[in-house]
Amino acid sequence: MVSFALHGVGVSGGIAIGRAQLVSHATREVAHYTIPASQVPAEIARFESAVADVRHELEGLHAALTTGEMPGEFGAFLDVHRMMLNDPTLAETPKRIIAEQRCNAEWALTLQMSALVEQFDQIDDAYLRERKADVVQVGERVLKRLMGRPGTLPPSSAEEQTILVAHDLSPADVIQFKHHHYAAFLTDLGGATSHTAIVARSLNVPAVVATHNARQLIREGEMLIVDGSRHVVIVNPDRSVLGEYRLRQSEIDLARQKLRRLKTKRAETLDGIHVELQANIELPEDVEEAIANGASGVGLFRSEFLFLNRDALPSEDEQFEAYRTVAQGMQGRPVTIRTFDLGADKEPHSFEGLARVAPNPALGLRAVRFCLAEPRLFLTQLRAILRATRYGNVRILIPMLASVSEIDQTLAMIARAKEALREQGVPFDPHTKVGGMIEIPAAALAIGAFLRKLDFLSIGTNDLIQYTLAVDRADDAVSHLYDPLHPAVLRLISHALGAATKAGVPIAMCGEMAGEQRLTRLFLGMGLREFSMHPSELLAVKQRVLQSTVAAGAALVERIRRVDDPAKLETLLDRLNA
Ligand code: PEP
Ligand code: MG
Repeated sequence: MVSFALHGVGVSGGIAIGRAQLVSHATREVAHYTIPASQVPAEIARFESAVADVRHELEGLHAALTTGEMPGEFGAFLDVHRMMLNDPTLAETPKRIIAEQRCNAEWALTLQMSALVEQFDQIDDAYLRERKADVVQVGERVLKRLMGRPGTLPPSSAEEQTILVAHDLSPADVIQFKHHHYAAFLTDLGGATSHTAIVARSLNVPAVVATHNARQLIREGEMLIVDGSRHVVIVNPDRSVLGEYRLRQSEIDLARQKLRRLKTKRAETLDGIHVELQANIELPEDVEEAIANGASGVGLFRSEFLFLNRDALPSEDEQFEAYRTVAQGMQGRPVTIRTFDLGADKEPHSFEGLARVAPNPALGLRAVRFCLAEPRLFLTQLRAILRATRYGNVRILIPMLASVSEIDQTLAMIARAKEALREQGVPFDPHTKVGGMIEIPAAALAIGAFLRKLDFLSIGTNDLIQYTLAVDRADDAVSHLYDPLHPAVLRLISHALGAATKAGVPIAMCGEMAGEQRLTRLFLGMGLREFSMHPSELLAVKQRVLQSTVAAGAALVERIRRVDDPAKLETLLDRLNA
């Protein structure tokens, strides 16, 4: 077997050794995976329910036709689609394929669609040949339904470590991995701070993205070593390489164990400056890990993950339960709930009427812009958060604010939500603090209004870098240009920290940069006192805080703030960390 190495962007450190399992569950491709015999009935039921949904959808469209809401010629086309959906070749054969091949429903349907298309191509009659497009359209409707309701991911075997290899994975795919114990994963696409990468980090397994063609080059079952820290994947390693990596793996484990001793230690620099080290979480169950790693609060709850991988929007009560669970779980420590940041790479694609295809989604109707455009959704979430304020120390954080009018509109919405709760006699904390994320350069530069109108701020470096450098954080083609240490980025951060400190407004950092030990001293020197990161990074950063003297680094920090030359910056940073 040929041994070779692939390079990408390591987005989650550590080493994993295991066998490849190929998956391509992505918008561009249809996933193909095998399922255990025991899961066949559930997979068939999933297919049947997707077909039933589409049938329902077509009937709804037909009803709209009779009420005159749709043009009449639409009727014939709908009739053809309904007929096709009732035809056993589309509605029944895929079920047989699922059972025979033990594959997922999407794959079975795709196989059958290809077979039907081929048959249509051979028909002489031009009219019938044209019906091929209808088969594809109906099939795709069902496919969309199936993908909006993800099935069971391939099970990872308990005895052998499984490494998932995919062309692309959405954040919604990766969040499901929390319930599957993969040893690592690789993708062809993706950027260092894409949400896919961020969720990967929260799983605590090594991950390498932007490998470009791993999915093509690696075969099912091949032995892999994934070294997330060194951004490399070794395929079919020989015995000596394997031995070397096994040794490094145990060294890393040992170092992690040693760090655990710091869990209850107060995070304080050598010159007595106290620092808050908080956790970023995606789901309520992540609280456990935050507490286990000594988090002094939740600095960022990415609440939008409650909205992914599902058919319907979470109700106010369901959201309230999730927020309450986190508030109670953190036992009085601050819990910062970010209102949902949907859009861009976290599209709620299965919600009827909400999915949009934007020409440039990262610059489009994302986060607070989306919320303000969908006041009903926003109010529901705000009510749910406010209700949870009685169960802990809950704060509201607004993502992607750029202008004063957005702040004003948001504060007005919060006031409306409070008013409605008051009228209904529902209790909540009227003094709930409202903060804004500084993740658009405009916000960092024109920070004055943010300081006057909001109770606290949090710097989202992931987006701040993306928007400052005009580099899509999820696009592997430009990942080499995504530079957290670009002088412009550092100046914006430093400016925001300086202005907030001067105004006496608490400011945190919750982007990925907050969890990088190499930058801890730099940010301490710039005045940062609240860091929020993945729970798995907390203890390493605490160790760094404990070894730092802020005053001693002041002169170097000042020089780093002013330097323009990247090489010089690296040298100064090394000196600061020496
Ligand atoms: C950020 O942009 O830095 C941030 C913390 O938010 P997200 O990564 O969820 O966009
Ligand atoms: Mg952001």
